[in-house]
Amino acid sequence: MIIVLEPQATEEQIKRVAERVREFGFEVHISRGVERTILGVIGDRDKDQLAQAVEAMAGVEKTVPILHPFKLASLEFHPERTAVRVGPVVIGLENLVVMAGPCAVESEEQIILTARAVQAAGAQILRGGAYKPRTSPYAFQGLQKEGLKMLAAARAATGLPVVSEVMNPRDVELVGEYVDMLQIGARNMQNFSLLREVGRFGKPVLLKRGLAATIEEWLMAAEYILSEGNYQVVLCERGIRTFETMTRNTLDVGAIAVVKALSHLPVVADPSHAAGKWRWVGALAKAALAAGADGLLIEVHPDPERALSDGPQSLNFANFASLMQSLAPLAGALGRRLEVPSAQAV
Ligand code: PEP
Ligand code: MN
Repeated sequence: MIIVLEPQATEEQIKRVAERVREFGFEVHISRGVERTILGVIGDRDKDQLAQAVEAMAGVEKTVPILHPFKLASLEFHPERTAVRVGPVVIGLENLVVMAGPCAVESEEQIILTARAVQAAGAQILRGGAYKPRTSPYAFQGLQKEGLKMLAAARAATGLPVVSEVMNPRDVELVGEYVDMLQIGARNMQNFSLLREVGRFGKPVLLKRGLAATIEEWLMAAEYILSEGNYQVVLCERGIRTFETMTRNTLDVGAIAVVKALSHLPVVADPSHAAGKWRWVGALAKAALAAGADGLLIEVHPDPERALSDGPQSLNFANFASLMQSLAPLAGALGRRLEVPSAQAV
């Protein structure tokens, strides 16, 4: 339930209503908008009596039941859109943010070379996996702590903030020490102890949608992080499992529009893991932006044929630079901004 206060409600009245909510045994979340203040009521129990009590109080305009189980993640509860700050970069404003880099960090040369190339093409955040969730235990698992150090070296060389996946609650502190944003992978979207741990840790989180998760389950996963007090969450649509096999996953473009309507959190898309093949990445990237995505996560490798993971879906430097060139005018047509250096400079 939300409690909508009158535009002229005083601070004293707001305080009294919040106290009343707590007396009933519920938690309260205060959202101060430009026009008016909204109190979100959190708790599992029936709220009818509370609604009657507060509707009689000075300063209260009305109460509105919230039908969705996610509260802190919902736009109704929190009508101001959230902007997430990753180092010097802000996700969720008019400008679009592109995060790019290899699936896995393979060597210091590879990550620094890629960081320079994606930066020259207009990417603002470097991605790179140090802990890789591989389907096979015999496949390359990532360079782990050495990989994190290489990411930090690439950040020092370019100034790009970095995002990297954390797979285990035990590693949150270690990964969090090296990266600017913690990625929760699709396979861990419902690892609730990991979600709580990154919520407590407090650094920005990139929360990927699970392979077979509904939009509601995805937003409930975000709710776990928010409920620990960390509002710096960016949602990432990366394709879901369907009967289709020509693409690795099916990019749920509709989910991007739906989540933008349901939640105040920024949403980005990962066309690389959705496509599974580099040839389809550009088309999916454009579709995602048209649906309202606030940015993109794209896999780029200096030599995709020799990549240790996800080579077939990785763009080489030239293809990434030309995709970025084609996204800039699209951003303008969508009323967004994407600053891409001129083609000659790339
Ligand atoms: C990745 O970003 O490299 C990755 C493993 O993604 P996902 O969790 O979406 O499969
Ligand atoms: Mn990958």
